[in-house]
Amino acid sequence: MTTHPKVILKSGKDASLLRFHPWVFSGAIKKIIGTVEEGQLVEVYDNKDQFLGIGHYQKGTIAVRILSFTPVEPDKRFYADKIERAWKIRKDLGLADSESTTMYRLVHGEGDGLPGLIADVYGHTLVLQMHSVGMYLIRRLLAEAFKEVLGNRISAIYDKSESTLPYLFSLKEKDGFMEGTSDECISLESGNKFLVDIPGGQKTGFFLDQRENRQLAGKLARGKNVLNLFGYTGGFSVYALKGGANLVHTVDSSRQAVDLANKNMELNFGKDPRHTGIVADAFEYLGSAGNKYDLIILDPPAFAKHNEVLHNALQGYKRLNAKAFSVIKPGGILFTFSCSQVVSRDAFRKTVFTAAAISKRQVRVLYQLSQPPDHPVNIYHPEGEYLKGLVLVVE
Ligand code: SAH
Repeated sequence: MTTHPKVILKSGKDASLLRFHPWVFSGAIKKIIGTVEEGQLVEVYDNKDQFLGIGHYQKGTIAVRILSFTPVEPDKRFYADKIERAWKIRKDLGLADSESTTMYRLVHGEGDGLPGLIADVYGHTLVLQMHSVGMYLIRRLLAEAFKEVLGNRISAIYDKSESTLPYLFSLKEKDGFMEGTSDECISLESGNKFLVDIPGGQKTGFFLDQRENRQLAGKLARGKNVLNLFGYTGGFSVYALKGGANLVHTVDSSRQAVDLANKNMELNFGKDPRHTGIVADAFEYLGSAGNKYDLIILDPPAFAKHNEVLHNALQGYKRLNAKAFSVIKPGGILFTFSCSQVVSRDAFRKTVFTAAAISKRQVRVLYQLSQPPDHPVNIYHPEGEYLKGLVLVVE
């Protein structure tokens, strides 16, 4: 192993690393031996000079993201091995090389042992999204490692890190193709067609994490009047109509998202009067929606990105869910989600409970939902579990 700057932890601050938690917080550091640049590899040691791990250094609260707890030099082979393991799991799950699903998450950061790196597959295009400077600086090496594993399965690699890198660092970086180009824009999910806008869309272009929950919504949609609130490009709406919904209303505050939702519905069903896309604020829409819906999907953006705003976020979820409880038809089904990582499963459930109590409706839990297995959670890094959902029947 080449020598790298050494990060020495304060006494007692090695416990989380000994339990394989992959983050070193800046407050745990006693000193750094050598000069360290942002994004550089550093070796982490305890107070008694015992090696704990090697990882990428970054300014900020999370100072080091650990890549390995054993002494290794992370080279192309190291990354290709991790990518290969991630790919094999997706293959076993029936996602990689599937004919009916051509978009999925191939690398989910800490969940695949690669903190700071997201890699999503859309047909023959790989989208890389780097959340750490360390991963960003080695993006060419990573691209080579992905090509080694995926071979001719991919013909283009797009870097979409501008909005996910630390602010000051990201100012000088631009999104764009690193390899090849692609004008491919239709991807398949469980046999459904979706137009995906990789450069302009949210996340890497599509909310891949709702695939299994959409399937469930489709199963429950037969004969129902469906309201898909925060519908983005109509993911849930397509499954609902496929599942035999009576009508589907997709509501989003973004005109661009609603346009794409309309196009996605048309792509799958042709011009179909059962669907309407509506540009509106979800809170306002619920206020004047009346009591016509018997399946409502609430999938808002993360209301809390930091712990400091957790209280406000919970208030937001409470208000939103209380409104939905107050308008849903008796016997209706509510899908309600939170994708805020700082909102725990328990806190979310309590908030929805409070909202139910405000509405004085009888509510039962049918399903407790989570993120799908191509967004795996490292058991030593519970922060990786971010998507929570409840399916409720409301009398
Ligand atoms: N359910 C979607 C993903 C939702 S992402 C899917 O399965 O693909 C959250 C969406 O909420 C975004 O499209 C964003 O434009 C929209 N949004 C944010 N604030 C909103 C508001 N106040 N009212 C309506 N939509 C809103």
